[in-house]
Amino acid sequence: MEYQDSERATELAERAREFVDEVVIPRERELEGGTKVPEAVIEELREEAKARDLYAPHIAEEHGGMGVDFRDVLPLFEEAGRSLLGPVAMRVDAPDEGNMHTLELAGTESQQERWLKPLVAGELTSAFAMTEPRQGSGSDPKMIKTTAERDGDEWVINGHKWWTTNGGEADFFITFARTDQDVHPYEGCSLIVVPADTPGFEVKRDIPHVGDDITSKVHSEIRYDDVRVPVENLLGKEGEGFTIAQKRLGPARLTHCMRYSGMAGRALDVAKAYTSEREGFGGPIADKQDVRYEIAEAETNLHAARTMVRHAADEISRGNEARVEVSMCKYFTANVTEEVINTALQFCGASGLGKDLPIADFYENVRQFRIVDGPDEVHKRVIARDAYDDVDPEELSQLPTFGED
Ligand SMILES: Cc1cc2nc3c(=O)[nH]c(=O)nc-3n(C[C@H](O)[C@H](O)[C@H](O)COP(=O)(O)OP(=O)(O)OC[C@H]3O[C@@H](n4cnc5c(N)ncnc54)[C@H](O)[C@@H]3O)c2cc1C
Repeated sequence: MEYQDSERATELAERAREFVDEVVIPRERELEGGTKVPEAVIEELREEAKARDLYAPHIAEEHGGMGVDFRDVLPLFEEAGRSLLGPVAMRVDAPDEGNMHTLELAGTESQQERWLKPLVAGELTSAFAMTEPRQGSGSDPKMIKTTAERDGDEWVINGHKWWTTNGGEADFFITFARTDQDVHPYEGCSLIVVPADTPGFEVKRDIPHVGDDITSKVHSEIRYDDVRVPVENLLGKEGEGFTIAQKRLGPARLTHCMRYSGMAGRALDVAKAYTSEREGFGGPIADKQDVRYEIAEAETNLHAARTMVRHAADEISRGNEARVEVSMCKYFTANVTEEVINTALQFCGASGLGKDLPIADFYENVRQFRIVDGPDEVHKRVIARDAYDDVDPEELSQLPTFGED
C-alpha cells in the first residue's frame, strides 16, 4: 500500500498551504465572527488561486481545471480545509465539487458545455437534491418519492426535497427522481438537471441550522410541482441514478474527509499555539501532562484517519469502488475530526468558544459531518455487512456444541 504522497502532490500541497496562510487566512481573520464573506472577496480569492495555478485542480483541463489525479489532489484538499474559505477559493467546495465530478462522469458534451464549464469557472452554482422529508429518501435512499414521468420530449417532475445545499442560491439542481415504478429503485431512478428558473420549481425556505458560518452555505426545502424539463436534461441513461450517485458519493465522501482533516489539523495548531503561550499553575498550559496526552491522542487519531483516506483514494485512483473502505473513512474521520476539534476548543478556554479564533466555527460546522452523505450508522451497516459476508463455515464447525444440540 502506498501512503507516500507523490512529488506532484507534495508540491501542490506546499503551494496550497502558502496560499491559505498568506492570502486566505488573513481574509478570514478580517471578517467579524458570524459575518458572511462578501461575493467580492470570494472573487478576489478565486482570481488569486487562478494566478497561483491552484484553481479547480480536480477537473480536467479541457473543462477549465488542472487535471490532477484524485490521489494527487488529496493533500491539496487537506490544505484547503484549513480555512472555511479555502475550498471556496480553490473551487473545491461541496457540493459544487461533487457535482462537477458527476457532470464530468455522466454529462454529454453539450451538458458539459452548458453546466460543467460555467460551474468550474464560478459563473454558476449547483445543488444535488436527493434527501426528502417525512417518509422519503434519507438514510435509506430507496424510500425515494419524487417522480419524473416522460411526457413526449419532456420529463414532468413532482416531489418534495429538503436539506439541499446551495438550494436558495443554485442555478441548477441535479435532481434524484424515480422514473420507473415497476422495477426496484436501484434500477428505477435517474438524475435529471433542473434549472432553478423552471416553472413549478420553488425553493420554499432555507432551513435554519447549526453551523451557519462565514461561508454560510444554505440548506433548503424545495417543491417540484409539474416541473417540465427537456428529455436532454437526463444525466447518463434512464435508470442509472443510483449507479451514478454511488460513483459521485464515493469520492465526495473522501473529499469531505480531506477537507475536515485539514480543519481539525488547523484547530490543533491553534490550540498548540494557545496552550504554549498561556500560563497558569506555574507554567505554560502546554506543559501539563493531561493536555499533552490529549494532544498526543488527537495527533494519533488524525494521523490514522489521514492514512486511511490515502489508502481509499489509492483504490479509487486504480478504478476500484472501494465501498467498504470509503465507509470506514467516512465514519472514522467524521468522529475523529469532531473529537479533535472539540479537544482543541477545550484547551483554548473561553477563546475556543469565541469567534476571534476559527475553532468555534469549526466546532459548529463539523457536527454535520457525522450525518451528511450517510450517517455513521449507515456506514457501519456497510462495513458490518461486508464483515459478515465471509463467515468461514470451517469456523462454524469449530463452535462448541452443548449436549444433544
Ligand atoms: C448540513 C447538511 C447538508 C446536506 N446537504 C444535502 C444535499 O446537498 N443534498 C441532499 O440530498 N441531502 C443533503 N443533506 C441530507 C443528508 O444527506 C441526510 O440528512 C442524511 O442522508 C440522513 O438522512 P435523514 O436526515 O433523513 O436521516 P434519517 O434517515 O431520518 O435517519 C435519522 C437517524 O437515524 C439513524 N439511522 C438511520 N438508519 C439507520 C440504521 N440502518 N441503523 C441504525 N440507525 C440508523 C441515524 O442516526 C440517522 O442520523 C444534508 C444534510 C445536512 C445536515
